[in-house]
Formats: sequence, C-alpha cells, structure tokens
Amino acid sequence: MADVTPVMQQYLDIKKQHGDAILFFRMGDFYEMFYEDARIASEELGLTLTSRDKSKKDPVPMAGIPYHAANGYLTKLLRAGYKVAVCEQTTLPGKGKGPVQREVMQVVTPGTVMGEESLDARSNNFLVTVSLDGGAAGIAMADISTGEFLAGEIPASRNWLDELERINPSEVILSDKEAPELEREIKSRLDVMVTTRDGWMFDFQYAADRIRDHFGVTSLKGFGIEDSPVAVSAAGGVLAYLTETQKASLDHITAIRRYRPGATMFLDARTRRNLELTATLSEDGTSKGTLFAVIDRTVTPMGARLLKTWISNPLIEPEGIIARHDGVQEFFDYPERIREAAAVLKGVHDVERLIGRVCLDRANPRDLLSLAESLERSWELRETVSQFRSSLVRSCAEEIEDLRDISAIISDALVDNPPAVFTDGGIFRDGYLPELDELRDISRSGRRWIADYQARERQRTGIATLKVGYNNVFGYYIEVSNSNRERVPEDYIRKQTLVNAERFITPALKEYEEKVLGAAERINELERNLFTELRREAASRVREIQAFSHAAAAIDVLHSYATIARERGYTRPEIYDGPVIEIRDGRHPVVETLIPAGKFVANDTVLDGEREQILIITGPNMAGKSTYLRQVGLIVLLAQTGSFVPASSAHIGAVDRIFTRVGASDNLAGGESTFLVEMNETANILNNCTPRSLILFDEVGRGTSTFDGLSIAWAIVEYLHQVQHAAARTLFATHYHELTELETLLPKVKNYNVAVREWNDEIVFLRKIMEGGSDQSLGIQVARLAGLPKKVITRAREILTNLEANEFTVNHEPKIASERPKAPDGTLQLSLFELPEHPVVEELRQIDVENLTPIKALLMLEQLKRKVVKKDSR
Ligand code: ADP
Ligand code: MG
Repeated sequence: MADVTPVMQQYLDIKKQHGDAILFFRMGDFYEMFYEDARIASEELGLTLTSRDKSKKDPVPMAGIPYHAANGYLTKLLRAGYKVAVCEQTTLPGKGKGPVQREVMQVVTPGTVMGEESLDARSNNFLVTVSLDGGAAGIAMADISTGEFLAGEIPASRNWLDELERINPSEVILSDKEAPELEREIKSRLDVMVTTRDGWMFDFQYAADRIRDHFGVTSLKGFGIEDSPVAVSAAGGVLAYLTETQKASLDHITAIRRYRPGATMFLDARTRRNLELTATLSEDGTSKGTLFAVIDRTVTPMGARLLKTWISNPLIEPEGIIARHDGVQEFFDYPERIREAAAVLKGVHDVERLIGRVCLDRANPRDLLSLAESLERSWELRETVSQFRSSLVRSCAEEIEDLRDISAIISDALVDNPPAVFTDGGIFRDGYLPELDELRDISRSGRRWIADYQARERQRTGIATLKVGYNNVFGYYIEVSNSNRERVPEDYIRKQTLVNAERFITPALKEYEEKVLGAAERINELERNLFTELRREAASRVREIQAFSHAAAAIDVLHSYATIARERGYTRPEIYDGPVIEIRDGRHPVVETLIPAGKFVANDTVLDGEREQILIITGPNMAGKSTYLRQVGLIVLLAQTGSFVPASSAHIGAVDRIFTRVGASDNLAGGESTFLVEMNETANILNNCTPRSLILFDEVGRGTSTFDGLSIAWAIVEYLHQVQHAAARTLFATHYHELTELETLLPKVKNYNVAVREWNDEIVFLRKIMEGGSDQSLGIQVARLAGLPKKVITRAREILTNLEANEFTVNHEPKIASERPKAPDGTLQLSLFELPEHPVVEELRQIDVENLTPIKALLMLEQLKRKVVKKDSR
C-alpha cells in the first residue's frame, strides 16, 4: 500500500479502530464503503459494487449510499446482524489544508440504535451486560432509546439464562474473560448479537467510578446496588459501552433502578412460550394470538411497552397487585374516565424516546414539535386523574409536573410543519427573532428582484423565452435558446454552452445572488444554532419529562386493563396470601376471541392444598384439556399483573411461580430427544416448585413406551402429593387413564374429565369439566362411527374389558400401586416392573386334583371364577 491517497489513509486509520463494524465513510453527499465492507453491503443491500481508482492494478472495491437515505440501509444492516460506524465530515471542504477532517460520530448496534425506523414503538430495546461471580449473575440493562437503566443480581437459584430470555435483549455485552463459554450458552437459547469488550471495563472499581461519575453522586447507595459487586460491574459495562458507541452525553439516563427478580413471578422461558404471553409458539414470531395482542388497549407507545413488561413480570405480593386492581377498578366503574384518559393520552406521543433523542442531540425539528404537543397535555392528564382515590393513580398524578411552559416555548418557536432536518432552515416562525426576520426579508426581496428581473430582461431584449434559472455550480444564470442568439445584449457574460441554448450572467444578477445566497447561508446557520439551543432547553427538563412519561405509561396500562375488562366482561379477582385458587366460569382469554362469540364454554376451577391439590384431567383428544390448563394459568397470571380476569369470579392465593410442561411432539430443541427435553423440564419443575406454585402438566411421558411413561407420571403425582416442600397446586392433563386410580389412594388427588357425548352417531364435545374420570371406550366408539367392521369393534370391546379387569386387585386396589410394600416415607411403590401373579394362580397351584370329587371340583371352579370375575361386574 505504498501509494495510498491521503483520503484512503484516513479511511484505513479510522477503520482500524472500528474493526467489528461496517464503516459508513462520508464523502460529500454519500456514505462510501470500501473493501470487505463494500462486498458485504453490496450483498446485503443489493448495491452495485464498483471500485475506486479503476485504472490502478488493484482497484479498491467500493459501494455507496446517498446520505439522506442512510437510515433505511442502516436498519437493514442491523437486522442482518451487523454494526455500523457512521463517520462524518467535521470540516467543510476547501477550508484548511489536506483532506477534510472526518470522525466517527456514532456506532450503531442492535442494542444502541436510536432511529425511529429501526425500533418497534411497542417494545423495549434492551442492551444487556452479564457478569458472573461464582453462582450469582450480575445483570444490567439499558434501553438507550427510553433512558431506562436497571441493574441487579440473579441468585444462583434462578437461572440467569431464563432471566435473559425474559428481558429479550437485542445485544449482550460480555467481558472477554467470560465470553467464550457464556457466548455459547447464550446463543443456544437466544438469537442475539453478542459483543465482547476488554475485561477492565467490568472491573468493579472502574465500574463504580464510572457510575458515580455519570450520575454525579459520591455513593452508589441511592441506587440500591452498592451491596452487589456483580451488579455494579455489569452496570459499569453498560455505561462504558454506551459511551463508546454514542460519543454523546447520556443525559437522559438519569438513574439506575434496582432490578429485583425476586419481587416478580419467575417464569422460565418455556412457560412464557407455552402460555404465549408475548410471542406465539409458531415459528414466525408474530404477536397475533398472544395474550399481549388480545388484551392490549393502550394508546401510547410507552403504555404498550409497560404493559408488555407487566405481563412478563407478574407481581407476587398481594399488596402491589391489589393497588393495581384498585386503579383499574376506578376506571372500570366510571367509563367516562376511560374515555377522558384515552382522549388525553392519544395526544401524547412517544415522550420517552423523544426526550432520549433530544438528550443525545439526535432530535430533529419534527421530534421537538411532537414532544411539545405531548407535553402540552401534561396538565390535562393530571387533571383527568386528579379525582381518583386509588393510591397508585394518585401517585402517578403527583409525578406529573406542569410542562406546558416548555411546550409553549417550543411550539411558539417552531413552524407548524417543521422539516425533518435542522441544517437547511425553515424551522422557526416569522417573528421569532428580529435578526432572522431581517435575513429572511433580504433573502425574500432578493428572490423577488430576481423573479422580476426575468420579466424586465424579456422586455428589454424582446426574447420571450428568456429564462432565469439556478444551479449549484454557478448559481443564478440567464438562459437563451440558440434561435435567439442574435438578440443577446452586449452586457451578458457567457458562462456555458448547451446543445440548444447558452447561459449567461450579469453583474446585477450576481449582486443579488450574493444577497440571496449569503442571507440563506446565514439563515441556515442561525436556525441551526437556535434549534440546538432550543433542544438543550428541552433537555434540561429531562427528569420532569421522564416522570411525566412514566406516569402516562402507568395510567395508560390501567386504563387499558379497564377497557378490555369492559369489552370482554372481565371481573376483578380477589388476591390473598393463601393456598386456594377458586375460579368460577373461567375462560381462556385468547381462545375465546378466536371462536364465534358466545361459543366458549366457561369452566370452574378449585384448587387448594387440602382436598384438591392435584387435579387429574382426562378426556379424549380435542376435548379441551390443554385449553383448560392454559386458561387457569393465564387467569392467575393476568390477575397478578394487576388485570381483571375472564371469569365470573376469581379468588386467588398468590402464586410464586407458574410452571408448564407441554408434551409437544416436535419439541426437538438443540438436537436433544423429545423425551430427554421433557424429562429435563420435569426435573426442573419438581426441583423448584413450592406449595405456592402452580404447575400445569399437559401430558407427561408421551415420548416413551406406555409402561415407562405411565410409571413416571404416576410417581410424579405421588411426589407432588407427598413431599411437603413441593406440594404445588397442580393440573395434570393426561391420556393415561390409569392415573385416575390415584384418586382412590391419595386424598388430595381429584379426577376431572372434559365431557363428550355421543349423539346421532356423532361425538359431541361439550367442553365442560366434570368430576370423575373419562369414559375409556370413547376411542372404540369413534372407531365404530368411522365404520370399522363390526367384528373388530366387538373384539376390541372384549379386549378392553379384559384390560380393565386387570387394573384392580381382588381387594379393589389399583394393581399398579398395591402390590409392593410401602416405602418408609409412606409413598407407594410401583409394581409395573415385577407384575405379580393373580392370587387365583396360587390357589390353582395348591389344588390336589387327584383327590378332588367332581362335585368339589365344580364348587371350587365356581369359587375361583367368582374371584376372578368379581371386579368385572362392578
Ligand atoms: P385437548 O388438549 O383435549 O386435545 P384442546 O384444549 O387442544 O384439546 O382443544 C381443542 C379445541 O377445542 C381448541 O382449539 C378450541 O377451539 C376448542 N375448545 C377448547 N376448550 C373450549 C371451550 N371451553 N369452549 C369452546 N371451545 C373450546
Ligand atoms: Mg392437548
């Protein structure tokens, strides 16, 4: 590279510092990319790959994009998993010696992107750092678009990977010391960009200093993380990375909140997925059909994001839950308050992200006006909720300051439809600043003079088609077509010859041009400075503006809960600290919206730690078992997020965790066998559940042979029943009819089935949960209705009768459990692996046939038969 040009040398120097990003290198009106970056860009963005210095023997590959269209391309690259370093020209061309100065102004990564077009308004965009120390994991997360910043510690007892999945970050930063192993673990669970940075960025002392520095505090106590070195390290890592990528002050990050995973219900990743809270089980990842999509009636983007957060983090202490219910109740009781709140909130734009862009000097004039329009509503929102008695709503109201002054300052300054860029003027109203008005007068009169000049010159020269035009190269000119060449006056100075015309200038024209252009340049500069000042003024109110945004978000969610409750007939659940869950006429919040109105069959649920701890639910395929299980889980979850629930009444002993295990047949995650996955999940449940938990088992043991699966399922129920610290409230849907026998053995197990009836040669699904086990012969009925030969049906009935006869011993005890002595802890042992002989066999063995009279033999035979048949005639 002996003969690189100075510009290319500059490029190479800058590129060296941003090796892991694609470099957008500003050259005039374009961002250029070179070498490998150019190749990637041409591939990902469909750009033409050209080259610089084509004449040389090693031309440099090059691809470019116009600067004004950069955002769209940038978004595409981010989606494809790249980072982009945006390098701008920092001096004007032609001024000073050597090439134009250039500097990377911002590195855009999936976790630090600010542009509206790259963000989903209804989701947070979190950047997360993880820092491990023995068992505990420090996690810090920031959404730079909203200014949220949280840090905390995940104890070893909770899997930090689950927590990470719940946060669903767009980018994870790791220390290079921990990276190789952690990265593999993270990538096995989440599709996310992982970035590594030097270990010193996570060093405790360095991190603590950095945090103190940023917030201008002397102690970390105010943030509640001082006692957790891993949390501090992680938080420091986030700040360091944000500073590195943004190269701007992060003034809108005004506090660290303590992330307290213990205060909310821990939902492992599978449960979140199985309940389809914010994403469906289907691969396409759409939000249609999720709980969020069905209940979301928020009207602001902040509200939507907060609702998502609440759904993903249900509370577990009744107090906080009841406070939310109180808030919802007041909206619910006064529908006019719902309407009022919605009307005000509709005028509130994404204040949280707008103020973020303002603080990072990235807000354009439209953003600022949009912020002003929103802040204009601040007082109205406060007034709207001021008559509430709910303490939660009141505290929201109190957080709202009157921000109409700053709103007025902005809207008095900006024109009604300001431009999206702040460099080209046209931002401020006439009358805003005398100096600006004067300049505009000069510019306007100059332009008017030029417009008049055309008419005057036409008259003077007699050339009717003479035109005054403008271009970037030599400014204003007079154009005369070739046919009128003879009439061009002496004083015209020729500038350019076209095919059909010639272009001229005159001293008078140039004089006014100077006025117009000079004024325009000064106007742009003045407006640019005024705008930057105005933006700073808005930024200085960041705390009040964020407080307003947070209050508006909470009011929005409560209003949304009340709206959906009225729309779909939800009722307020009672939450208390106890073992009972009692739901009357419960419905599945999502399924009921997917089938015709009124067709959903409501069902009751009673669970307690006493008589009905474990419900065994049987019923044929398609009966509605899975729907029922999920409905119970979703009602409990909704209640604990603060929402009303789809039921006529619900009394809920607060749940610490909801576990689900769903026997999906195609659950081939990570190459593990379905059965192994299933057993992993089951082990996780049994090892972590408590009496305050709710377990939803939807089929266990399907992935193995019947005897295997049945034995495991049986033993699981026994375990949950007998082991006190694991006595979770459990719904167990199963196709193992044998499990219903547990009801006779274990006092806290109860059988239910989803009713079906045969009617007019059809199977009718009643969708009703009834007491007792289901009718086993339904499969044969279906076979009959399907037209299987009568002979087959009759024979199947016989075989079924035989099988059923073998389920119980002569003493009416389920054979599965009764033949083995009880273990010391009282659990029953399974006997499937050593099937015992029928007692009659032993009796037969004892008979001395030689010494038996025919009469005696007959009597004996009758006796034996009675023993065997006894159970059949039940
Ligand atoms: P299972 O798990 O017993 O095979 P599902 O729970 O998958 O059955 O239910 C099958 C279908 O029945 C559901 O997709 C739903 O459309 C319908 N369904 C389930 N429960 C109800 C109900 N309570 N009321 C109305 N339709 C229901
Ligand atoms: Mg099912």
